[in-house]
Amino acid sequence: KLPEVVIIGRPNVGKSTLFNRLVGKRLALVDDQPGVTRDRRKGEAGLLGLEFEAVDTAGWEDEDDASLPGRMRAQTQVSLKGADAALFVYDSRAGLTPLDEEIAQWLREQEVPVVLIANKAEGNGGESGILEGYSLGMGDPIPVSAEHGEGVADLYSALFPLI
Ligand code: GDP
Ligand code: MG
Repeated sequence: KLPEVVIIGRPNVGKSTLFNRLVGKRLALVDDQPGVTRDRRKGEAGLLGLEFEAVDTAGWEDEDDASLPGRMRAQTQVSLKGADAALFVYDSRAGLTPLDEEIAQWLREQEVPVVLIANKAEGNGGESGILEGYSLGMGDPIPVSAEHGEGVADLYSALFPLI
């Protein structure tokens, strides 16, 4: 059985773009169970020869529901169950937002090793946002560009020891 790696973060940081880059055309199944697992996609991922099952989540999405935080956590918690590692993605161009901080705090309470990903860092962009990532206390942020395929080797180096 391949190790399982869950991609987590607030909306629009590039989780699905990263998932698509890691999984490419090998998307195995679209998990369309109703309820908590809605929008969860799984696929066999390859990263410089490192193979794992990647899970894309949308757990912090629906912003118009008042009872949202609990439900979002529940949804993401389902995805985290049995996961070997999490990729916590934020947007280095936007910098950290209160929702990023909230997710980070929640994630620190979970028993899963986390790689912090500073996405949208192509062309050395998002420098100050990358530095902000250190304040989360989740290790060094790994600058990547999911869209342009940059930072792959650093992501490999960070993930490899965890899975
Ligand atoms: P998700 O909501 O976290 O799944 O985010 P998406 O993968 O849907 O991406 C949200 C937006 O960010 C889209 O417009 C993407 O094209 C854009 N995006 C994703 N990755 C990058 C990146 O590495 N650089 C830039 N500049 N934009 C990106
Ligand atoms: Mg998405």
